Amino acid sequence: LTVATDDEDRGATKLKFLVDGMLGSLAVKLRMLGFDTLYDKESSDAQLMKIAKQSKRILLTSDMSLYSRSILSQVSCIALTKKDDASRLIELLKQLNISTLDASVKSRCSICNGSLVEDLPDEFGRARYRCVACKKKYWRGSHWNNLEKLVETVNRSVSNG
Ligand SMILES: [Zn+2]
Repeated sequence: LTVATDDEDRGATKLKFLVDGMLGSLAVKLRMLGFDTLYDKESSDAQLMKIAKQSKRILLTSDMSLYSRSILSQVSCIALTKKDDASRLIELLKQLNISTLDASVKSRCSICNGSLVEDLPDEFGRARYRCVACKKKYWRGSHWNNLEKLVETVNRSVSNG
């Protein structure tokens, strides 16, 4: 995964999500995959539905009653029923008719969903990125390598149907 310095969104990264309280680890992965993702573990079901509608986000939930209420209220909502994030990502891509995740998108901050920009390298010359919102610094490392493996797994599975 790379981090672009411009603000131009590409392809699937235009999708925006609102993730309910039960899917926190998925929210982190979606942000690292460059999706604009709000994670909300405080709001009631009714509030989540309202936020999704107002902010034109797709509500992701594993709560089937919230899913049913959302569909009845014409809120964009996808139910994710699987127990691990790789399987949930596969479910999500199939629902959205996306055939592959793009491993070259710019990541967003996994903590706050802010945009990442290039920062000065650290004292060892390693490339570093900084969240424009919360200032957290990121290095390319195991975090991203693990995510690239996840992207491969998901893409292979989606392309095999
Ligand atoms: Zn941040």
